[in-house]
Amino acid sequence: MRLSQYFLPILRDNPKEAEIVSHRLMLRAGMIRQEASGIYAWLPLGLRVLKKIEQIVREEMDRAGAVEMLMPTLQLADLWRESGRYDAYGPEMLRIVDRNKREMLYGPTNEEMITAIFRSGVKSYRELPKNLYHFQWKFRDEQRPRFGVMRGREFMMKDAYSFDVDEASARISYNRMFVAYLRIFARMGLTGIPMRAETGPIGGDLSHEFIVLAETGESGVFINKDVLNLPIPPETVDYAGDLSGIVTQWTTLYAATEDVHDAARFEAETPEAKRVSTRGIEVGQVFFFGDKYSKPMKAMITGPDGVERPAQCGSYGVGVSRLLGAIIEASHDDKGIIWPESVAPFTVGLANLKVGDDATDAACEKIYAALTKAKVDVLYDDSDDRPGGKFAKLDLIGLPYQIIVGPKGIAADEIEVKTRATGERETLPLGEVIARFSGSVWVS
Ligand code: ATP
Ligand code: MG
Repeated sequence: MRLSQYFLPILRDNPKEAEIVSHRLMLRAGMIRQEASGIYAWLPLGLRVLKKIEQIVREEMDRAGAVEMLMPTLQLADLWRESGRYDAYGPEMLRIVDRNKREMLYGPTNEEMITAIFRSGVKSYRELPKNLYHFQWKFRDEQRPRFGVMRGREFMMKDAYSFDVDEASARISYNRMFVAYLRIFARMGLTGIPMRAETGPIGGDLSHEFIVLAETGESGVFINKDVLNLPIPPETVDYAGDLSGIVTQWTTLYAATEDVHDAARFEAETPEAKRVSTRGIEVGQVFFFGDKYSKPMKAMITGPDGVERPAQCGSYGVGVSRLLGAIIEASHDDKGIIWPESVAPFTVGLANLKVGDDATDAACEKIYAALTKAKVDVLYDDSDDRPGGKFAKLDLIGLPYQIIVGPKGIAADEIEVKTRATGERETLPLGEVIARFSGSVWVS
């Protein structure tokens, strides 16, 4: 992508409304623009990261055996009357009336709709388990939208829903999501720590919130710090096998949010030197709720004994848009964002320090063409900004690598490559720069 053709409205000054660093940096880097309280337009750079995050979540969900679909944003109020939640949900629900005076709502979540879809398609235990998911914008009329995409009113969620014939198989479905979540966050450079969560009236221990530690997080958390060093299940993890060992390993050391924190238990189970009390951001939640919706909505399954029973269900959310904020909170410095390569909007920023100089332009075009051909995402700064401005811009938007090309370097066949995360600089001949990033042998 040539910057001259792109849309990257960088803000020079710190926006006054942004209280935390991720919000500030997303606005300054031209990733989002607020359209109304808690409602954002995703500008090109922000959308690229959102899509990268979505793709990681998709790959891990698919690997764990879930199936993608898409449900609409608008739902009928009558559907929510079936579960009894239409009246119970309260002012967070955005209620709408259409031209025929039909009551509708902008979905804050999808348990009711997926249960209706499931019950119309599946009747027998032979067709189970099923896990269906989608990526969709949700609307919750939050009392205090704040911190940019962290607590929006309109936000992107991945929500998955599992259906099983009995509680034992539902636990297996739950474990699959638990393991997939460990991998999802790790692939974005985050440790999403599963913490015991409130399960409400259903009880049991089958809900975990996945929390990324950050001083600016909204949840107070208490952990045994050894939880930060537990191994992430590998790509080859066997989702058809027994995953309970991994779940046990990740749920044995103390880790709880303030809502369920038990100080006496924390102290009894955790040596003083390992106790950490800090704050965190909820990036996902897994929940087993049995027949809470399938029973009132009559999503019935015939078991091996020929008897009908309500399906045993769980739901599994990931805050896709919130994750941008969480990643930036975890990875930035005073110059700007430092994207992990897996979610970076572009892998390489190419800075032409003297646009109009024939040799410099030619070298940049050569690099740009070769990397583009090798499918490396490059943002080519071909603007007539001064060098200092280009460096600041690239640092701010946080691309993992910068290739810096100026007339002096070209004359000596020395091109500078800077790694954003470490600040490390190398000088390499043009051919080697191309070979390094395109993974190919350079033939001049
Ligand atoms: P919170 O406690 O932060 O309000 P929640 O527990 O109500 O969130 P869930 O219903 O568990 O949210 O939704 C799944 C995920 O969606 C959450 O783990 C979070 O990452 C994300 N999420 C929830 N509310 C918002 C919001 N207002 N803005 C952005 N992301 C959100
Ligand atoms: Mg939650």
